[in-house]
This record gives sequence, structure tokens and C-alpha cells, in this order.
Amino acid sequence: METPQISIVAPLYNESESFPHLVERLNALMDSCPLSVEVVLIDDGSRDNTALMMRQVALSDPRYHCVFLSRNHGHQLALSAGIARARGSEGLFIIDGDLQDPPELLPEFYKLLKEGNDVVYAVRRKRKENMAKRTGYYLFYRLLKSISYVEIPLDSGDFSLISRRVADVLIKMPEESRYLRGMRSWIGFKQVGFEYERDERVAGESKYSLKQLFRLAYNGIFNFSEFPIKFMTNTGAIAIAISLVYFFVVVIKKLFFNPVIEGFTALLFVVILFSGVQLLALGIIGEYVLRIFFQSKGRPLFIVKEEIVNREYV
Ligand code: UDP
Ligand code: MG
Repeated sequence: METPQISIVAPLYNESESFPHLVERLNALMDSCPLSVEVVLIDDGSRDNTALMMRQVALSDPRYHCVFLSRNHGHQLALSAGIARARGSEGLFIIDGDLQDPPELLPEFYKLLKEGNDVVYAVRRKRKENMAKRTGYYLFYRLLKSISYVEIPLDSGDFSLISRRVADVLIKMPEESRYLRGMRSWIGFKQVGFEYERDERVAGESKYSLKQLFRLAYNGIFNFSEFPIKFMTNTGAIAIAISLVYFFVVVIKKLFFNPVIEGFTALLFVVILFSGVQLLALGIIGEYVLRIFFQSKGRPLFIVKEEIVNREYV
């Protein structure tokens, strides 16, 4: 038995509708690809038939390795579980289970890996999603790029081929709030983008709730930028500067001119504005405290309930 060269890693949450398409496309790819490939599927606590279907595939096809998590952990953690279990000796090909990331691109990604790149990340040329979501993503990626201390490429998600050594570093990174595309950039080595057109999901609805999407965005911002804290400091400093100037204006007015009571509306406005700013600042500190709190617990990132190991490779 040999070690597979490439592991294809795909997390699945309630994907019974797209699952048959996924297996069909992966099988066709593996049959035609000269590389030795294993597939690592992670069931992220699905409530539909996904786990059952995975089990059937794993038991009938020795190239499949299936991991079942104890409950829904969320995409980033499910993916982390898959990365930890994948044995590909040359690289890990990370895709979504809904076929929005065409697995057939593997040979092209592999070619770039072989040319000395450690990370080949996919860059979306076009998104086939609704207007609101597209605009949200567009603005978020640009905001993050402008405030992040790591160079995170625009319009690239988790879809990528990463080398064995990058995967090994990712596995060693213990952070609990995970923004994998940021962590991947942070690791460094030689990284290259590959433009592609993101397909529509093959079946079913998006499994990312709005809440999960916001959490991901927050993780990106709070884990890869000092901007929120700097924003508080700078706002405070600017407010102090303005108040000092205003203080001198008032004193001069009182000394040299007839003082009149004025500015009640302005006063009210300033009080309300700065109550808001203070609450925002508290919230920002709270975000960091929360992250420290959860990280300090040192809980395992994910809990595996069951695992069917592939039998084709070691
Ligand atoms: N997913 C997951 N756990 C979750 C939510 C999603 O494992 O809690 C998986 C999902 O099955 C899919 C991938 O993550 O394979 C991307 O999710 P989705 O397609 O719903 O996100 P979108 O493409 O709409 O952003
Ligand atoms: Mg999708």
C-alpha cells in the first residue's frame, strides 16, 4: 500500500441533494487522473441522509475516507478536521461539497504546485450568486485587504491546493476562531492565484446561515487586523483634540466677548455620539476578550464521532 499523492478534502453539511453529483464527478476525475488520489469527506453533523450516503460510498470504494463529526461544527472547523485527517503526501485539494469549485481543475492546480508553489489558491472571476451576496463579498474582501496586516488575496476563498508542508503548519495552528484563507496567507511560502469562474451550487440551498457568514467575516477582521483597536485609540485621540480646541474657544469667548448660553443641540448631539462611540469601543474590547476566553479553554477544535478510513492507501 502506498500513500496517496493528493487528498481531495470536502466538508459536507446536509448535502444529500448534491452528494451523488459530487461522487460522480470525483470518481470520473480519479479514474482519468494519473495521480494517486484519496477523497476525504467530512460530515459536519448533517441532519439529512448525507452521513448514510457517505458511509455507503466509503464502504464500497476504498479511495474514500469519511470522517463524521459529533455535531455541526461549522465549515471552517469541518475543513480543519479534513485537513488533519488527509494523508496526501504532495498536496491537499480543498473544495466545497456543492461543486461550486470544479474538482476537474486539479491537474491544472497540480501543475502550478509542481512549478514550486506551496499554495495555489483559486480567485473568483465571476460569481453566479445573487446581487446582495455578491456586493457583500465584494465589499468585505476589499475592506479586509485594506485593514489586514497579512496580504490576503482578493476574491479567493478556501478553494485551493496546498502543499503537504502548508497543511502541516495549518494543523499545528491551534487557533479556535479559524479563518483558514487568512491563516493560509499568513503561513507564507510561494503562493499563486488561479482565476476561475465559480459555478452555481449543483443542488440544494446554501448551508451557510447569515449568522455563520457574519461570524466568518468577524473572524477575518478580528484575527487578521489591528484596525478595531487602533480605531478606538484614534477616535479617542481625535475627540480629545477637538474638545481641547473647543475648550480654548469657549474660554476666549468668555474672557473677551459677552458670554451667551448656546449650543444645547450640539451638546446633546455630542453626548449621544460619544455614548455610541464608547459602547462601540466596549464591544470591540469585548470581541477580543471573548476570543481570549474561548481560546484559553483549550478545547479540541472538533470532535470526531466515527471514521471510515480509506483502504486503498496508507
Ligand atoms: N458546510 C459545512 N458546515 C456548515 C455549513 C456549510 O460543512 O455548517 C459546507 C457545505 O456543505 C459546503 C461548504 O461548506 O460543502 C460550503 O457551504 P455553502 O455552499 O453552503 O456556502 P456558500 O457557497 O453558499 O458560501
Ligand atoms: Mg456553496
